[in-house]
Amino acid sequence: MSAPPDTPDPITRLLHADRRFGAEQGGVHMAVNPSVQYGYERVEDLIGVFQGRLKNRFNYARQGTPTTAALESKITALEEGVGTVSFATGMAAVSAVFLTLLRAGDHLVASRHLFGNTHSVLGTLQGLGVEVSLVDAASADAVAAGLRPGTRMVFVETIANPGTQVPDLPGIGRLCAEHGLVYVVDNTISSPALFRPRTVGASLSLNSLTKTIAGHGNALGGAVTDTGLFDWQAYPNIFEGYRQGDAKQWGLTQLRKKGLRDLGGTLSADHAHRIAVGAETLALRVAQTSATALALARFLESHPAVARVYYPMLESHPQHAMARALFGAGAWLLSFELRDPAACIPVINRLQIPVKATGMGDTRTLIIPVAPTIFWEAGPEKRAEMGIAEGLIRVSVGLERESELIADFAAALDG
Ligand SMILES: *Cc1c(COP(=O)(O)O)cnc(C)c1O
Repeated sequence: MSAPPDTPDPITRLLHADRRFGAEQGGVHMAVNPSVQYGYERVEDLIGVFQGRLKNRFNYARQGTPTTAALESKITALEEGVGTVSFATGMAAVSAVFLTLLRAGDHLVASRHLFGNTHSVLGTLQGLGVEVSLVDAASADAVAAGLRPGTRMVFVETIANPGTQVPDLPGIGRLCAEHGLVYVVDNTISSPALFRPRTVGASLSLNSLTKTIAGHGNALGGAVTDTGLFDWQAYPNIFEGYRQGDAKQWGLTQLRKKGLRDLGGTLSADHAHRIAVGAETLALRVAQTSATALALARFLESHPAVARVYYPMLESHPQHAMARALFGAGAWLLSFELRDPAACIPVINRLQIPVKATGMGDTRTLIIPVAPTIFWEAGPEKRAEMGIAEGLIRVSVGLERESELIADFAAALDG
């Protein structure tokens, strides 16, 4: 098959990226390669693989396979980065970033509004001697006030779950550049279809592939993409052995060696293939779910039973102007509060289309009452502190016909 076209558009590149790996028997899809071991004709080549002299060859599948490499090339194209390391889950990617790039005594500044399990990992880090400050990242000044001489990294999410808060992404980028800090942006909810963290100076863009990129709720995965903007030569936590060759790859080398090879959270070839297929329709799905989510958000905001709606493309959203300028559309995540918190359960039960389900980022619309489920462990006081109302409902908008979905919500709210 011919080489992939050298097109400027990341979506076109994504669709053709795996051509550069060659396809067996003319297959248009990359064949799934489940091999764990990799053999070579000449022992010199086997030695070369171990010594990192032979590129694009494989060692032991815990460090990656031809199938994960093909997926990684698609994510790199989407993010317009210099390389990507894939992981078994988004959380494996999050843990690898913290555990391989930070050391005891380092200080991390993170947004107060984080995915719950990421917040939990910060507790683990504190147990290992990394100091953590949580700040209101909607203000770059609040982030600046949190910096200390030992600060190494700033971690934020583009659109927080469930409150949809948006950090001052460009302001934090300038701050991190000024102070030489690793700027990690979790791009999971927005995805590279709406936003590329490299445009605001991020060092690393992290995606839970499970959600927007895979999109069909049938595979777990995670990825970290290096934008090429961070100077790893100036970063003290890169091990001596990885300070070789192109310095733009040092961070990724450490993530692959320490984060995949040593920690072992490797994406399987089967799941990498499912995610790669899902990713091909990313732009279409994000355009449609964003349009439906905005229509639903506007409908809910106008309904008398609804107290508040959280969605970045609503004019009432506190960071609306920035979200509009950066993302253009709002993605599939929205939350709303009912005036009567006691009505939360009966309203959800009356809905016919949304699935009352645990997670988010699916082709189907999923719905969950937040306080008694994902924030149950936190308890009422912590919930109040985090701004999680007892009647808050989260919706992950899917691909159903917009008019039918809104009619279903109307019927459920009206009893
Ligand atoms: C879901 C999620 C993760 C974790 O991803 P998994 O693939 O479920 O492990 C990380 N960050 C954000 C923002 C998420 O929504």
